[in-house]
Amino acid sequence: MVKSSCAKAYNPQSEFDFRLLMLTEVRTVRMPSCNWCGRMILPREGAVKFPCPQCGETTIWRCEKCRGFGRPYKCQKCGFSGP
Ligand SMILES: [Zn+2]
Ligand SMILES: [Zn+2]
Repeated sequence: MVKSSCAKAYNPQSEFDFRLLMLTEVRTVRMPSCNWCGRMILPREGAVKFPCPQCGETTIWRCEKCRGFGRPYKCQKCGFSGP
């Protein structure tokens, strides 16, 4: 009995999965990523964010580079894309 409960608590794999999930969540919430290249947006860089011009329900982020190159973006909700 004692052995089995001990083995249950000692499961490194489930602990790892949990940590990974937490990390992913924090990244998604706190660090926006560029709509085009998927690079993380850093607070200091000259990235822009704006709501989708068509549906207004999604926030589109563009990093400094993609903005400079005039790369297109695409709304994940309505599929609208523009320069
Ligand atoms: Zn980008
Ligand atoms: Zn949209």
